[in-house]
Amino acid sequence: MILGNVNIIGNNEPVNVRVCNGKLADITPADSKSQASHLQLTFNDAIIFPGLINSHDHLDFNLFPQLGNKKYSNYTEWGNYIHKAYKNEIAEILQIPAPLRSEWGMYKNLLCGITTVVNHGEKPGLKNALITVFEESHCLHSVQFEKNWKIKLNNPLKKNLPVNIHVGEGDDLLSINEIDELIKYNLLKRKLVGIHGVSMSAKQAEKFEALVWCPGSNYFLLDKTAQVNRLEKHTKILFGTDSTLTGSWDIWEHLRLARKTGLLSDEALYCTLNQNAATIWQLNSGSIDEGKDADLVVAKNPVGKKDLDAFFELRPADILLVIHKGEIRLFDESILTRLYGIDMYGFSKVFIAGACKYVKGDLPALIKKIKAYRPDINFPVTIKEPVQV
Ligand SMILES: [Zn+2]
Repeated sequence: MILGNVNIIGNNEPVNVRVCNGKLADITPADSKSQASHLQLTFNDAIIFPGLINSHDHLDFNLFPQLGNKKYSNYTEWGNYIHKAYKNEIAEILQIPAPLRSEWGMYKNLLCGITTVVNHGEKPGLKNALITVFEESHCLHSVQFEKNWKIKLNNPLKKNLPVNIHVGEGDDLLSINEIDELIKYNLLKRKLVGIHGVSMSAKQAEKFEALVWCPGSNYFLLDKTAQVNRLEKHTKILFGTDSTLTGSWDIWEHLRLARKTGLLSDEALYCTLNQNAATIWQLNSGSIDEGKDADLVVAKNPVGKKDLDAFFELRPADILLVIHKGEIRLFDESILTRLYGIDMYGFSKVFIAGACKYVKGDLPALIKKIKAYRPDINFPVTIKEPVQV
């Protein structure tokens, strides 16, 4: 497959990207003669970037609406509050079988151009996942909510796995102290990947391999976020959306919020989604280089924008193509006629903000199954074309 005449972010000249056996085979100038391929898609005014890596989500919690109606001091206050105030709402969503909830969580990510998601919690057991659901870490919930966390943290059988833990999610002493406690009891000096770190200091950050920044979730819960401008020199910053319990389904909204804080440069923010995450999770992806896994997104270049300005303007409706390990997982209707020769079996049609997309698998059937349990759940995609008024 050749993706022709696409602009790599940061490159001045358009290129052709050739994909072969699930890997990036070569990248050549768009005006050079490429090797013949069974499928050649030539684009016009399009950008290409590595499939995004979402380093924090709970796949099975993405049918929840945002729960909470005030600012909290920390995650325990929020957690205890929502279990009381929204007891029935939570029970109703949890009645939907977890595999259905997790499958939707996977689609939530794919529809935004995410090709790797780090799932926190129980293994979702998805059959034939369409993106990489990363599970090679040891998930502990948090210092306050994980029972026997000290014993689990010091389990020698798991010592080679990175520890993936919510930490410092608050704006009070409890949140500061729990980070120190976690560091103190990390007796085996395991690699720590902290999530949130709103109250994390530069000194504490040095003890972490990485911090997953989730500004959307932080502002919703705490009206405050991690001081990543001060932490980035001491640990690697990754990016996470968390679930829809605390934020939008759409990572692009999270990214625009992150950018607005001005805490990271555009380049540094971009790296949280690809190179930084690929390094920490040891993935052969995260850049457009020969030999890397072909996890790629092609999107319409927003009018009048270039490079990172274009990237951060994107919306799910602008995505033209998502490729995961060389396989097409999603494409825009505008390239349908150019895809002859591709087995269309197994794709289904949905609309995002009025734009028609074909996605692998039967997403309409999944939505119907979920709605059979809860007809009132709102999905960001529709099955039928929206009526123009
Ligand atoms: Zn979380």
